[in-house]
Amino acid sequence: MSQVSGLLRVGPKLTLADIDPASTPGLPGRKVVRRDPKAWARAELAELGAELARQQEMLFANAKKDRTFRHRVLLVLQAMDCGGKDGTIKKVAGTMNPQGLHIVGFGPPTPLELKHDFLWRIRKAVPSAGLVGVFNRSHYEDVLVVRVRKLVTKRVWLTRYPQINDFELELFESGVTLVKVMLHISYEEQRQRLLARLDDPTKHWKYNPDDVDNRAYWPAYQEAYQDALARCSTDHAPWYVVPADRKWYRDWAVAHLLLDAMSGLNLRYPAADFDPQRERARLEEGTR
Ligand code: AMP
Ligand code: MG
Repeated sequence: MSQVSGLLRVGPKLTLADIDPASTPGLPGRKVVRRDPKAWARAELAELGAELARQQEMLFANAKKDRTFRHRVLLVLQAMDCGGKDGTIKKVAGTMNPQGLHIVGFGPPTPLELKHDFLWRIRKAVPSAGLVGVFNRSHYEDVLVVRVRKLVTKRVWLTRYPQINDFELELFESGVTLVKVMLHISYEEQRQRLLARLDDPTKHWKYNPDDVDNRAYWPAYQEAYQDALARCSTDHAPWYVVPADRKWYRDWAVAHLLLDAMSGLNLRYPAADFDPQRERARLEEGTR
């Protein structure tokens, strides 16, 4: 495991307010990094990305060759509005082969989804063997927005933490490697990003006036995040808080977290189930 994963991992005593969204934990202190951290991290991301792509290909290949292979990876992204979920998907998941990705976003539940328990739509979106899944928001919304905006009673949302832990254990036991990441931005950074969206007509489609209303609930959201992360960061499904005011650090850190999780699977390319020499001979024969 790289140092980054250890530094960002959430323990039961998490205090979100103690984590500076502009900090850069684990960034090497070397001169070349200090001189231009942004350029360094971007270059490093290219290398991490190449290794992510290789890991993803091995995962895909094993599932293709072995019908009993059950491993899959699931990156869960949560953040306040403008937290950078879309950017992270583009930059980090974007380093991998689209064919091996399964990306699903979760908005307000549809009337049909509301007729089922909150994990119903989530279960359907879990990646199958050999794939890297990404959740853009997730079942955690059911203890975040739902709690803060009082969409269900406290009695209901309180029962959801153990339900989530049970569900994630079930996923783990069926071969899912979970990497849960909260992209942690500051109140001021969110304001800047909302302003930037207003300034750019090509970003207006991303601007939602409700996001401004939601800012009034910022402290309640931070409290809900803290509870969710502290209660649901387990050995089989750890949470990580990635300081996300600096986009270059965010991408670099998430790539590290994903790569750590994937290398932990100790994947290899599947061995040939044929004799390459014999196949070569057959092909050469055909050309004569
Ligand atoms: P966006 O990520 O900008 O597309 O927005 C998606 C919206 O869906 C956010 O405002 C979320 O709070 C909302 N949302 C996601 N899941 C739920 C849920 N389970 N209940 C209510 N709102 C949700
Ligand atoms: Mg939004």
